[in-house]
Amino acid sequence: TIGGNVGENSGGPHTLRYGVTTNHTLGLEVVLPGGDIVQLGGNAVDSPGYDLIGLLVGSEGTLGIVTKIWVRLVPINETVKTILAVFASMEDASSAVAGMIAQRIVPAAIEMMDNLTIRAIESRSPSGYPVEAEGVVLIEVDGVREEVEAQSEAVQQVCRDTRALSVRLARDEAERAALWAGRKGAFAAIGRLTPDYYTVDGVVPRTRLPATLARIQEISRESGFRIANVFHAGDGNLHPLIMWDADEAGAEERVIDTGA
Ligand SMILES: Cc1cc2nc3c(=O)[nH]c(=O)nc-3n(C[C@H](O)[C@H](O)[C@H](O)COP(=O)(O)OP(=O)(O)OC[C@H]3O[C@@H](n4cnc5c(N)ncnc54)[C@H](O)[C@@H]3O)c2cc1C
Repeated sequence: TIGGNVGENSGGPHTLRYGVTTNHTLGLEVVLPGGDIVQLGGNAVDSPGYDLIGLLVGSEGTLGIVTKIWVRLVPINETVKTILAVFASMEDASSAVAGMIAQRIVPAAIEMMDNLTIRAIESRSPSGYPVEAEGVVLIEVDGVREEVEAQSEAVQQVCRDTRALSVRLARDEAERAALWAGRKGAFAAIGRLTPDYYTVDGVVPRTRLPATLARIQEISRESGFRIANVFHAGDGNLHPLIMWDADEAGAEERVIDTGA
């Protein structure tokens, strides 16, 4: 629910350019623990006084129950382009992400998936990801046409410079939707490979992505748990999915240890 999004200050693939829930919350009506009903903010973009909306958003229901939310709407962009870059290693894929940011290109989204995730997605609902790739990066640029053309060219060039095996621009809305359907169905697809999975959610500086991914692989080898990676690479927000089986004796403690 939108109340849940406010509770968690949720973000997603497009957070890189558009921010998280707090950046889109103009006002809240809240029922406080004592039963008082208060309104914070409203239609105005900014309200005088303390930023109590900033305090409430992300407070996980601990400060009150949100019963009304005023949200900031942003116009739908004139042009959107989605690019799939395929890499022979997650290190190269990470370099592409770092390269874009270093050149001050801020796409709307930069999502990365590893080979395990790609295979899971393609076996569930083929989305056009090459199963032999070690890593893919899904990039979306949006805005006015001229800006998008220039950004799309720059993004593709960075991917080629960082040893992409192929760089594909979605030709039409159907292809674009298929690429996103793969990403959005990734967690469900992993669910088909394993009885249970434990999602770890952490953020690292983008420059530390290659080292962190290498360490995750090491942890996977040491622990014996397969770990899939699908994450918001643009803001360094990793989601290692540790695959396990709750019916296996002692597995729960081991998987929690592995995640820690
Ligand atoms: C597999 C998986 C992937 C996820 N991926 C992401 C992700 O990529 N990015 C991200 O930001 N989050 C993610 N989440 C976390 C979370 O599920 C989301 O942020 C989601 O938007 C929460 O919404 P919900 O309706 O499920 O909330 P709930 O789980 O129902 O509630 C979340 C919290 O908000 C409180 N709450 C709910 N409604 C209200 C209300 N009206 N007033 C006050 N408090 C309220 C609850 O008490 C609770 O503490 C993920 C979770 C899972 C399980």
